[in-house]
Amino acid sequence: MDLPLFSLLRRLLLLGCVFAAPLQAATIVLDAGHGGHDPGGIPGQRYSEKAAALDVTLRIRAKLTAAGHRVVMTRSTDTFVELSERVAIAKRTPGKPIFVSIHFNSAANRDACGIETYLYDKRGAALAQAIHRRVVAVSGGPDRGIRRARFYVLRYNSRPSVLVELGFLTNSQEGAKISRSEAYRQKLADAVSAGIRSVVR
Ligand SMILES: [Zn+2]
Repeated sequence: MDLPLFSLLRRLLLLGCVFAAPLQAATIVLDAGHGGHDPGGIPGQRYSEKAAALDVTLRIRAKLTAAGHRVVMTRSTDTFVELSERVAIAKRTPGKPIFVSIHFNSAANRDACGIETYLYDKRGAALAQAIHRRVVAVSGGPDRGIRRARFYVLRYNSRPSVLVELGFLTNSQEGAKISRSEAYRQKLADAVSAGIRSVVR
């Protein structure tokens, strides 16, 4: 057998294997805020936060799994999950996942509207920016900024983590759009998914 040719063939085969090996897509932990006996929001508000948060989180999951990501949910039904358990889920999920918590805002001031994104430390900075600007763009509402907060699910998280407030349910216009328009909720979910995908493999 012609040795150089054999060696060349072997090299090509090896190269083929290298190029054919799929990149492992990142794992994402999605955290739908509140649930069960905790509706979120403020007393007497018309639209429940827990339902909107779960709806959009399930849409984000669908989008990310379709793109090949592994998604772990801290809740996927209307159940109560302790904050410590949400963080524990992120910690025990293998593959160095990122953590994204989905919420909707409420305020006694009914005029308040717009998008806020929270992080605790710089590990969440790129993710926060990527998600925030996309959500602001589709919401058309005020950009209330990326803020630092000591929220439990951020502060005690061992993973890069952000929490997004996807608009105010207590604002008559924004609240109605969120609760009544499935197309709008899908747009929010698409924006969050695109933001996540822009920072992970
Ligand atoms: Zn909330």
